[in-house]
Amino acid sequence: MLNQPRYISEALDSKPVVTVRRDVPIPILDGYSRGVFYTFHNLPDGKEHFVVQLGPEVPGRVPLVRLHSECMTGDVFGSQRCDCGAQLREALFRINSEGGYLVYLRQEGRGIGLYAKMDAYHLQTQGMDTFEANRHLNFEDDLRSYSCAADMLAALDVRRIRLLSNNPDKAEQLTAHGISIVEQVSTGIYLTAHNERYLEAKVTRANHNLKLR
Ligand SMILES: [Zn+2]
Repeated sequence: MLNQPRYISEALDSKPVVTVRRDVPIPILDGYSRGVFYTFHNLPDGKEHFVVQLGPEVPGRVPLVRLHSECMTGDVFGSQRCDCGAQLREALFRINSEGGYLVYLRQEGRGIGLYAKMDAYHLQTQGMDTFEANRHLNFEDDLRSYSCAADMLAALDVRRIRLLSNNPDKAEQLTAHGISIVEQVSTGIYLTAHNERYLEAKVTRANHNLKLR
């Protein structure tokens, strides 16, 4: 049997380890709360993802964690076409009271970007649902990856979490990347006059655990 030189296999599977670059406390939610914002070195996709730590750190308590993918229209402008803004605020307040981390991922529009999301919105005004519109634009249903989220949590030495999510894909991807999920906690449901079809598509197309009726 050949003796493989060790350095070859090490070189093949060594990728730079994600480490904390900076931690900055910032008063947020109009002064209601204070979050510590963490930035990172060596994120594999090169995007400026970040983590906000909120609330009490209780020894022995497993932190509550939310992975939130950027939605400019929902997060910043309170768009009623989706439920992102409401979900982000719920997550911030719940994590602030229980203690944990909000992982903010720069993957707008399920990973297709803001401009393409607007193209998809345009198609939705003509009758397509969010998934049909993405396919019409030659995007897959969901391009979001949660491997960077797992890397950032590991860099913070957070390896066991309570996951605040209705999305089975997040739990599966985190588990596959070595994060142990001791409990999956459901979020609230934010039905508006404008997002019913969007939420229905989440249930029927992506198996989200939402009880709309
Ligand atoms: Zn949104």
